[in-house]
Amino acid sequence: MPIFEYIPDSEETCPYCHGGFEEIQTMSAEPLTACPECGCACHRVISSFGVVTKGASMLSSKNLAANGFTQYKKMGKGYYEKTAGKGPNAIADGR
Ligand SMILES: [Zn+2]
Repeated sequence: MPIFEYIPDSEETCPYCHGGFEEIQTMSAEPLTACPECGCACHRVISSFGVVTKGASMLSSKNLAANGFTQYKKMGKGYYEKTAGKGPNAIADGR
């Protein structure tokens, strides 16, 4: 099953959801709207991050770039920094 990443919308987060958390869900499952631990509002991040992260465990950064993937490393709350590939150098969640 795919891993979906969630980013909390609230500033008041718990240790579980602080900076984002991951949930394993079926593709057809309803996206979560709240943290399962503290109930604060959250939203699902585009799931391609999860796919790339999954691939990263099988391919080196160099191979990822050679295959046209862009790999991002999560640097903080809603912020990703590029580690390989041709995409933007960083992605910040626009909130
Ligand atoms: Zn929480």
